[in-house]
Amino acid sequence: MHLVWYRNDLRTIDCEPLEQACSSDEAVAACFLLAPGQWKAHGLGPNRIEYLRRTLVDLGGRLAELGIGFHLREIDTYGEAPERILEIAREVGCETVHWGREYEVDELDRDRSARRLLETAGLTVHEHDDQVVIEPGTLKTGSGSAYKVFTPYRKSWERALHERGERTHRSRPRPRSKPNAGIGTDVVPETIPGFEAFVPIDDWPVGEVAALEVLDGFLQDRLGRYHEDRDTPSLPGTSRLGPALAVGALSPRTCVDAARLHASRHPGCGEGAAIWISELTWRDFYRNVLFEFPRVCRNRAFKLESEAVEWRDDEDSYAAWCEGRTGYPIVDAAMRCLVATGWMHNRLRMVTSQFLTKHLLIDWRRGEAFFAHHLVDYDFASNNGGWQWSASTGTDAAPYFRVFNPTTQGRRFDPDGTFIRTWVPELAELDGRRIHEPPVGGDLWDGPGYPPPIVDQSIGRKRAIEAFARLRDT
Ligand code: FAD
Repeated sequence: MHLVWYRNDLRTIDCEPLEQACSSDEAVAACFLLAPGQWKAHGLGPNRIEYLRRTLVDLGGRLAELGIGFHLREIDTYGEAPERILEIAREVGCETVHWGREYEVDELDRDRSARRLLETAGLTVHEHDDQVVIEPGTLKTGSGSAYKVFTPYRKSWERALHERGERTHRSRPRPRSKPNAGIGTDVVPETIPGFEAFVPIDDWPVGEVAALEVLDGFLQDRLGRYHEDRDTPSLPGTSRLGPALAVGALSPRTCVDAARLHASRHPGCGEGAAIWISELTWRDFYRNVLFEFPRVCRNRAFKLESEAVEWRDDEDSYAAWCEGRTGYPIVDAAMRCLVATGWMHNRLRMVTSQFLTKHLLIDWRRGEAFFAHHLVDYDFASNNGGWQWSASTGTDAAPYFRVFNPTTQGRRFDPDGTFIRTWVPELAELDGRRIHEPPVGGDLWDGPGYPPPIVDQSIGRKRAIEAFARLRDT
């Protein structure tokens, strides 16, 4: 009998550990460990965990349809995981355990301990690479070292994909002839204490079937325009599949295959598909980065020399950034959107993270933690990679002297102010030109009106450039 230990791969379709477990006639059981203490220690927020909880409910139902029992246990931290998995395996009578690899430091440690314990107890362990398209650690530069720059990584990633050839099917296990659904299938708790969502999670489709429907709708309606629309926050130009990908309700391989197939049948979608697949490659890239440079999992900068940057302690400015009160309309609209919905458009993640780390010169780790607490699609690798990119401390980092001007970014990507008007109602009456640079003084600032800028952007920019330039000089 086989046991599948689920983590960030909460699906039955195109799920390698499950497919392998189901490849014989033997009965299959599945399990998941709720680890609230570990989630807290890792900074995962309530919105992301509530979305995960709902996905577990969906998964349990789908596994039951296949005749596969789903066993849930609560642990505090990963230290308890190996014993708990052995316990479940013994309870249900499994000799073989499958799981999809996770690549972060604590997760790798946990899995090493689990493997040791299970094998010592006489069980067989199979690990699968299932949350990426190309496994971390497999692509190397010509000199055999790890990639530090995205573009050459992407070329190598494309070659590897090409060499693997077309995948012709998406696995979907058949119901078991020897079901074990009756053996202690557990009910997912209604809430996970300490992780009650504070944004409407109902807005997000939950589970693998819903994710596939969203994918299909995106391919049909928006893929062909993705390269044009993806930078406009007021348009539904992107897939919004981030949450499903983050918990693994959807496989990134499924996404890449589907986009390639769609583009081959609809040649007009070629450019959109290429850019979208390239975005999914960033997702693999950042997993590869943390696998090759595990220090980034330990709160360290990728570029070690950047650890000497003298970040400012400025609680008032940090609070203004968090609450969308910086006086920069596009920054404030984005931050208010994040706090109210648990989501922020990619362009605005770049604008707001640059504003915090450059104009305010506040440590990127504070912004990283704030996003982790709020985002429904929070994903350690992509969030850390995105923050370090913006802060010029990471791979491919934005050169420190190239600082996004928030006003120009607003004008360019929200030209008539539609997005700003949605989230900053104080500015709703201003026309498309003035809304990006509201006039200081007058009615707008009376009472609880819109705040004046908390920093002069040219002064903030200069301060950041000088702080980074000092590193070069020392
Ligand atoms: P689409 O544009 O439809 O892209 C499809 C998928 O590709 C995304 O769902 C995501 O899985 C992946 N993807 C797209 N862009 C990127 C990227 N730049 N880096 C890595 N993967 C990408 N993405 C997360 O999934 N979780 C995070 O916690 C996260 N934090 C970020 C923080 C910062 C500061 C920045 C700059 C970016 C961050 N991103 C993060 C990347 C990106 O902003 C989101 O993936 C994207 O906005 C999600 O929207 P979507 O699902 O509509 O994406």
